[in-house]
Amino acid sequence: MHPKEPPRLPLAQLPTPVVELTNLARELNIPRILCKRDDLTGLEVSGNKVRKLEYLLADARAQGADTLVTNGGFQSNHCRATAAIGARLGMRVRLILRAPADGSQPENDGNLFLDRLFGAHITLHPVKEYNTDRNALVDRVMNEERAAGRKPYFFPVGASVPLGCWGYIRCFKELLDHFGGETKFDVFSAVSSSGTFAGLVLGKALFGAKNVRVVGIPVSDSVEFFQKDVRELIDATNDRFQLGLSEMDTPIELIDGYIGEGYAIPYPAAVETLKRVARSEGLILDPTYTSKAMHGFLETIRAGAVRSDALPLFIHTGGAFGLMARRDLFGK
Ligand SMILES: *Cc1c(COP(=O)(O)O)cnc(C)c1O
Repeated sequence: MHPKEPPRLPLAQLPTPVVELTNLARELNIPRILCKRDDLTGLEVSGNKVRKLEYLLADARAQGADTLVTNGGFQSNHCRATAAIGARLGMRVRLILRAPADGSQPENDGNLFLDRLFGAHITLHPVKEYNTDRNALVDRVMNEERAAGRKPYFFPVGASVPLGCWGYIRCFKELLDHFGGETKFDVFSAVSSSGTFAGLVLGKALFGAKNVRVVGIPVSDSVEFFQKDVRELIDATNDRFQLGLSEMDTPIELIDGYIGEGYAIPYPAAVETLKRVARSEGLILDPTYTSKAMHGFLETIRAGAVRSDALPLFIHTGGAFGLMARRDLFGK
């Protein structure tokens, strides 16, 4: 890895495999489509969040923490991975969760069901309270834990902080090790809390991978929002670890048009893509992230917007448990 890499606690099954999506490639009439199976980083910890948590957990343990505190939506993959890791490492977990927007009680299904199964301590908050008072909610939980004599360690939604970015710097290195420096490939991934995509962009810069193009597909907020959000995260990571990179070294390429109405709101074309990939490849996508990103990826291929001499590669960031909580999208 890179000499500036911070300590890491191995929690994921790495490296993840790179597979060929042969049936989809045939259907789209192109020679090859590749997929890096980051949905296979583990079972309980499946998906992209565990890569970031490897670095955060190393830091938490070095600081002597015994309790993990984090936040996210009620079907957060990040919170479920944190809950599983907490159980595995014998640490207490406090999850501050955003309740459904319509004010209903969430079904005890998918990630939320697993959070409870792993023994996490959960509080659910209405959207308005969660959005406006989040810092106060976190402070309150941290103070409660300290008052009880514990040592809490906080990280925010998606673990998308500079330390977490190393997860996808490492993933990028795995891709280079897999293909060798000569192969040209265009890498696509979903973008939401930004740490995955920021890590890939940083990885390309740190390893001088001139043949690789990194493209992000926003699934929750606008391209303008993410140009700023990803830039801030890249800058903060560059500063904190003194990576010596300039803005020119870390171009941010995002493609628009696949968000739908917003975060965790599925739309028919993405649901169709999810069904199609399931039937053609036996591969599970999720309604919130990977179905939208895969839809954008396949549409980009169809539009001829992958470099003609490059291999198209999709990073499957996981989310299968979130699918189980959205059976309603698929009829009987
Ligand atoms: C969190 C998540 C993403 C988005 O990754 P970020 O680092 O938050 O941008 C993509 N796919 C799945 C399944 C996720 O859980």
